[in-house]
Amino acid sequence: MRDRPLLVIALLVAAATVLLLRSWQTSDAPAIEQETPIQTVSLTTDEFGMPVSELSVIESTVRRNETFSDLLTPYGVEFQRIVNLARDGRDTFDVRRLKSGRPYRVYTDSSGVGRYMVYQPNLASYVVFDLGEEPSVRVEERNVVVRERTIEGTIEESLYMTLINQDIHPTVANRMADVFAWQIDFSRLQKGDSFRIVFEEQYVGDHLFDIGEVTAARFVHMNEDYYAFHYQNGDVDEHYDETGKSLRKAFLIAPVEYKRISSGFTYRRFHPVQKRYKAHLGTDYAADPGTPIMATGDGVVTEARYGQYNGNYVKIRHNGTYTTQYLHMQKIKTGIRPGVRVKQGDIIGFVGSTGLATGPHVCYRFWKGGEQVDHRREKIPSVGPIPTQYFADFSVQRDDMMMALTSPLNPGIDRSYAELLKTPEALTSP
Ligand SMILES: [Zn+2]
Repeated sequence: MRDRPLLVIALLVAAATVLLLRSWQTSDAPAIEQETPIQTVSLTTDEFGMPVSELSVIESTVRRNETFSDLLTPYGVEFQRIVNLARDGRDTFDVRRLKSGRPYRVYTDSSGVGRYMVYQPNLASYVVFDLGEEPSVRVEERNVVVRERTIEGTIEESLYMTLINQDIHPTVANRMADVFAWQIDFSRLQKGDSFRIVFEEQYVGDHLFDIGEVTAARFVHMNEDYYAFHYQNGDVDEHYDETGKSLRKAFLIAPVEYKRISSGFTYRRFHPVQKRYKAHLGTDYAADPGTPIMATGDGVVTEARYGQYNGNYVKIRHNGTYTTQYLHMQKIKTGIRPGVRVKQGDIIGFVGSTGLATGPHVCYRFWKGGEQVDHRREKIPSVGPIPTQYFADFSVQRDDMMMALTSPLNPGIDRSYAELLKTPEALTSP
């Protein structure tokens, strides 16, 4: 069902091309001769199956704040028809989901009236609006093909540049940074660091649609090897190292042994001291004064000082993604200062009510990718190793992937392999 219209279109396009070529080859006066081929190709359709030879095509992209009606009104489509189409077609495609920047086409007849509209929410699908006497909406899905790809490289300037120089989508860098978030600080990569990665690319036709899963990766950072193996089975969907340990480490759920949560994370709460509504982008853990406060994860102290509102506070950077902060301390533990490395569970200070606080508590703040988030709503990373019942299966997959990560790349299988021969020693002799 999916392939047949495409085949028909392909045949029509091929037929039209042959006719056009023939006329071009035999014609010395194309201006006159063209009449014939134009009639012959009247069945020609475009990539969306629309009869473009009978209709004019206007292609554009949705602009900011532009509505469905804004797009169609200029083409003489009756307002009531637009409203009906939006309402009746809502279950198929809700026109309020039109996104600025996405492409669309309007097909108009000889009098300039819109007959069809095609909107592309993404590369993998498009929406066809029939604007005629019997308006209708349908969504067509394109085939997404997943290809596994193996690449390798050595960092000269940056990981991004290394990927771009090889014509690899820079999103791959983000995926690698996600996978190794706890092992490698991707903002501190060194010249000479190298990697090999097996990952999935999703294609629609010849167009790269998205980067899929990182199947396996080896990263050599400051002469140290880091491995990642994706394993999925049952409810397990994780990246593990070569020994089956999860690459992700949990944060402690709370920085203190607390009595109660006196205030949760909210964008709006009544502030007891300031007597007004304001956002509270942290979680308050009430505890006895002097109770030890722990670092919730491994990291480096970036701030440890007094502030008018925060009181005595400590901020810890865990990796390129996560940062935490602990406010209103009675005192900061001796030795905790910027640059000091801490381990999960290390004591960094003691509960107090310094700064803007009504009682003894820790205001715990959590940043992910530069944004303050409610850590209690974050997916808690798995700490455990691979479950025992999967270990044998995991080992087989890991051994396979280990070969893929360490044996010489095979030129000729993929264009990328040939290009990668520029740095054949990258991973074997870092
Ligand atoms: Zn607070």
